[in-house]
Amino acid sequence: MNLNKKTAYKKTIALIAHDGKKAEMVAFIKDHLAILRGANLIATGTTGNHVKKTGLKVTTKLSGPLGGDAEIAALAARKKIDAIIFFRDPLGKHPHEPDIQMLMRLSDLHNIPLATNPATAYYLLRGIFSPS
Ligand code: PGA
Repeated sequence: MNLNKKTAYKKTIALIAHDGKKAEMVAFIKDHLAILRGANLIATGTTGNHVKKTGLKVTTKLSGPLGGDAEIAALAARKKIDAIIFFRDPLGKHPHEPDIQMLMRLSDLHNIPLATNPATAYYLLRGIFSPS
């Protein structure tokens, strides 16, 4: 064992997509497989099951309407997440809207980057994984 070898810090990214945006999330992930392989991924339940089909490892939380967004919000409040990619469906109604608002409020409170559409997520990933 080489004790001098530095362990690289792996960033943790949370992935969430509303039902109307899951196909976009899968397409986005497939376009960014190489980057995302280098991260710890967590996701709300159903989103996570879609992510697994791309071959990536992901830790799943509860489904969003059952508290998954709230679980991810709690991790954000504890600063256990480096970035959130949350493809919200602006045309849908969501029973867990209060949890969604909480997640966004806590990400703002703790200054955690959060992208709500693929265009922003594109720049977010390039930003947090660019060599500094
Ligand atoms: P889901 O939850 O990944 O379990 O569908 C996402 C959400 O609706 O917040």
